[in-house]
Amino acid sequence: MTTLTRDHFTTLDQQDPLAGFRQEFELPAEHIYLNGNSLGVLPKTAKARARDVVEQEWGQGLIRSWNTADWVGLPRRVGDKIAGLIGADAGEVVVADSTSVNLFKLAAAAVKLRPGRSKILSEPGNFPTDLYILQGLEAFMDGRVQLNTVHRDEILSAIDEDTALLVLTQVHYKSGSMFDMAAITARAHEVGALVLWDLSHSAGAVPVALNSVGADFAIGCGYKYLNGGPGAPGFLFVAKRHQAQLQQPLSGWFGHASPFQMRDDYEPAPGIERMLCGTTPVIGASLLEIGVDIMASADMTLVREKSLQMGQLFIELAEQRLGGYGFGIASSKDPALRGSQVSLTHAQGFAIMQALIARNIIGDFRAPDILRFGFTPLYVRFVDLWDCVDALVDIMATRDWDRPAFKSLTAVT
Ligand SMILES: *Cc1c(COP(=O)(O)O)cnc(C)c1O
Repeated sequence: MTTLTRDHFTTLDQQDPLAGFRQEFELPAEHIYLNGNSLGVLPKTAKARARDVVEQEWGQGLIRSWNTADWVGLPRRVGDKIAGLIGADAGEVVVADSTSVNLFKLAAAAVKLRPGRSKILSEPGNFPTDLYILQGLEAFMDGRVQLNTVHRDEILSAIDEDTALLVLTQVHYKSGSMFDMAAITARAHEVGALVLWDLSHSAGAVPVALNSVGADFAIGCGYKYLNGGPGAPGFLFVAKRHQAQLQQPLSGWFGHASPFQMRDDYEPAPGIERMLCGTTPVIGASLLEIGVDIMASADMTLVREKSLQMGQLFIELAEQRLGGYGFGIASSKDPALRGSQVSLTHAQGFAIMQALIARNIIGDFRAPDILRFGFTPLYVRFVDLWDCVDALVDIMATRDWDRPAFKSLTAVT
């Protein structure tokens, strides 16, 4: 392994075909942002769009804007654009609600497609809301379905004839580990089980090919790699072949076949719109569209290449420069099994991350000992990785982390 230098990283930036995207985003001066996996940054055009939606569409257009500004078309319009990022077809994705709510709608609808089967499979340590929502569904159905969590290495062998549904997050939020979507989907289908993929750390981060692996259902997040803004609505995918049979539990008026006929009886929309529930969060969905448009204009192959190269270099830097300080590497070194982040472990992880954030280098901490660094190739530079590890070396060498100010817990880590 050659010894890495800062020059090596500045040269990579000069040769980076994606470098031009950075100027489309507004980043605070003198910051290194390695947390786009948790909250993406602000696209410059989103500011003008926010002003337009609020001042013109809402302020001047008022109720007319449902038609004149096509507010009513937002869930499908933005959904179709996201479909292009995840290997789905137009008419298979809508933007709606939050990821958590979308999971409930889809998981409940999916288990109804498999009557007589009692098992929902997931992994321990999946993102908390995924497990909580499934526990809620289990309790709500009085135990007619049971959540089984099995270690990720044993998922394939745990799929059996009693499995109704698997709910897995393709890229793990803490470790960045990635499931083989094609292999798991194929095994599930062999025994007639369905699979719901959580793409919160996949959409805009890694190439996803839902239809080419024959995926059934998916959900994902708008405010992470898609740069939709804080609290942006989530999205959901239902393969065309399942749509007509799918009965979702939150049968609100936006999912009705003809909502504005105001009839007493619910009749689901024929296509993906049946997965909607209530009124679209117009401002949030309008800003999400901006982030999605930028992502759609980038070549996903280049994004993945740069992201993997960044992960590789970050691991090499950590090995070369942080060796003596007690760090571990929680992410796979195999690029095929790694999403767009690298996680380090350290017993003093919380304080170390606080010390780093005090230097305007922003990653995050996930209990009990994970320091997460997300790589968002559209706006993170190679040199940022060098500077981040350089700061970590200084924080460890000077014991800067060992100050009371860095040890008091904040509500959101
Ligand atoms: C971020 C994330 C969520 C977020 O769910 P919300 O309903 O938006 O709070 C869900 N699942 C996974 C795997 C995530 O990473």
